[in-house]
Amino acid sequence: MRVLVTGGAGFIGSHLAEALLARGDEVDIIDDLSTGSMANIDHLTRNPRFHHTIDTIINVPLMAELVDRCDLVVHLAAAVGVRLIVESPVRTISTNIRGTEIALNMAAKKHKKVILASTSEVYGKSNKVPFAEDDDLVLGPTIKSRWSYACSKAIDEFLALAYFREGKLPVVICRFFNIVGPRQTGRYGMVFPRLIRQALEGKDLTVYGTGTQTRSFLFVGDLIRALLVLAGLPAAEGQVINVGSDREISIERLAGTIIGITKSGSAITHVPYEKAYEEGFEDMGRRAADVGKLHRLTGFTPAVMLEEMIEKTAAYIRENKE
Ligand code: UDP
Repeated sequence: MRVLVTGGAGFIGSHLAEALLARGDEVDIIDDLSTGSMANIDHLTRNPRFHHTIDTIINVPLMAELVDRCDLVVHLAAAVGVRLIVESPVRTISTNIRGTEIALNMAAKKHKKVILASTSEVYGKSNKVPFAEDDDLVLGPTIKSRWSYACSKAIDEFLALAYFREGKLPVVICRFFNIVGPRQTGRYGMVFPRLIRQALEGKDLTVYGTGTQTRSFLFVGDLIRALLVLAGLPAAEGQVINVGSDREISIERLAGTIIGITKSGSAITHVPYEKAYEEGFEDMGRRAADVGKLHRLTGFTPAVMLEEMIEKTAAYIRENKE
């Protein structure tokens, strides 16, 4: 099988490309290196079944050509990271909406299957935890730029479902929940690599707000395993599926666990949200995935627990000083 991975030089895309090559597929990736990097895929470029194009997914003729020669499109390319979203809202909205529109349109024309990456951000500040796929989305006002990410991804989902219903495009919408692991960078705000790096450098771990807010983390290797099963499952087409974990941990506890596992002498410092992001920033109090649908469809359960996620990410950060 030949697979096109948009955003293939990113954290998740590079792991996916690796797994596809390992099972014998031919892999094309396209990435504009805005948040991805050549360092993530350098080790793959020697493989004759790996092909990389450094360009934007907004380049329509190029996307037409790439989609034409593949059997499956995994659309991961997006502006991600809360910090990036708050700092560059125009880029977030335009990449996420126009990019996905192009990817879906090309795939529909050629009737190619699509796996669309969406996000648990779409649930917004709903307090009905865990979040199930048919729950209401509770978003904040448009004057708060954070919500542009959830909104742009929700539009992507609407469009994908519309293509499925009207054009019979085989598409699977996956809502990723806080995916972590090696190659994730803390540059765009993600808590896991940021706190681990701080612990390794002996700096204070910056916990935003009270630290009582929770997240549920899923290891990137587990995510890829789930995606590969979903990609081969006709019953998943036209569905929205949470891909995540239901094990919540508060950020304060996460920071303490990281300090313990890395044997760091660092302390924890609390940073108010308005200092970390922007005035009036709204965070989500709790986030956990209802994984019932994913489990029913695929039998998937996560294999990597939090401690191991921290160890593996810490090992990577030690070996690759940015
Ligand atoms: N966070 C934190 N310290 C950091 C970075 C993030 O306490 O240095 C918090 C952030 O405010 C949020 C949680 O960790 O409550 C997860 O943030 P992240 O940006 O990783 O993901 P998301 O908010 O999209 O779940």
